Amino acid sequence: MISKDDLYIILEIHRAASVTEIKRAFRKLARRYHPDINPGDGQAEEHFKRITEAYEILSDPLKREFYDVNGFYTEGVLETNRKETNWGFSFQGFNFNRSNDSNFSDLFGHIGRSQRRDPQRGQDLEYPISITFEESIKGHKARISVVRMDPCGTCNGTGQHPGSRESACSGCAGTGKTIRTKGHLQFTVTCGECGGTGRSIIPCRNCRGDGRTSRSEILDVDLPPGVAPGSRIRISGKGNGGRFGGPAGDLYVVVKVGEHPFFKRIGDNIHCCIPLTLTEAALGTKIEIPTIDGPAVVRIPPGTQSGQVLRMRGRGAPSLLNPGLCGDQYAEVRVVVPRIADERSKQILRELAKLNPEDPRSKLW
Ligand SMILES: [Zn+2]
Ligand SMILES: [Zn+2]
Repeated sequence: MISKDDLYIILEIHRAASVTEIKRAFRKLARRYHPDINPGDGQAEEHFKRITEAYEILSDPLKREFYDVNGFYTEGVLETNRKETNWGFSFQGFNFNRSNDSNFSDLFGHIGRSQRRDPQRGQDLEYPISITFEESIKGHKARISVVRMDPCGTCNGTGQHPGSRESACSGCAGTGKTIRTKGHLQFTVTCGECGGTGRSIIPCRNCRGDGRTSRSEILDVDLPPGVAPGSRIRISGKGNGGRFGGPAGDLYVVVKVGEHPFFKRIGDNIHCCIPLTLTEAALGTKIEIPTIDGPAVVRIPPGTQSGQVLRMRGRGAPSLLNPGLCGDQYAEVRVVVPRIADERSKQILRELAKLNPEDPRSKLW
């Protein structure tokens, strides 16, 4: 189920937007998020679907009215033959008129309440950001541009023309609802004149009574060293602004980290694979292994086997849970067997085998 504010926020329009404004908003967003323009971008595609869905509902007057009253709309709900009084509409014959108002209130008292100008917290927003593996290790300062709804500066978020007074709405006699008929169905719909508040105001010219305006804001985001893929960095109060004096929502920057050709991160540990020659593995040696801080010298003990894992303490990613600490690096050894072509080398190997008779499969039986 979609909550009441969502469709308007998805289309980045105010509640009182006209059909023309809805169309314009949809076209603008569709141009930005269309799958043809963002090939392979699943998030853009998902958002495009939501925009389209929001547009299909809000551009249809009947669907929009249903949505405004009930806070959701599902396909077919207007055509259903059942008497669904809970959803705010009924067959003709359900004897409703203005003199029956108390009945009406008992049945439908909850409807339209959220239309009132009570303070509402603004919606949280998400902003996806892609960084490289190196940036996730070292930390990264990003500058992002976020489109968010903000309290209107002209009316201070009240939606009311500065200096004007409220009065009872003449369109609905202060009830906030009116009746509309389609075929044999009657709908209780939000009063179009007052938007369901039952009160009449002179709307602010800047925000047309919504109390908020959409604007883009440039934000500097500090991604800490060691930020992990999928992290959600909260930026308090930078979601959509609240309505009618409510607090703003939060912005969540969702971190996507690119792959690294050599390192693989699991938790705060870094894993890698390190090739050794047969001689290095058999005799032992000192080699340099790449770490996220540059090369580190590691001692390879004699007789090191393929698949053995060397632990390099403290060479992993900085830990966000334990500040000041780092994970470890694990280097898995892979012994590279020489490809021998010349007779002399073959002879040496045969001699070696003779000097070291061993059956690595003896334990299999
Ligand atoms: Zn009204
Ligand atoms: Zn305003």
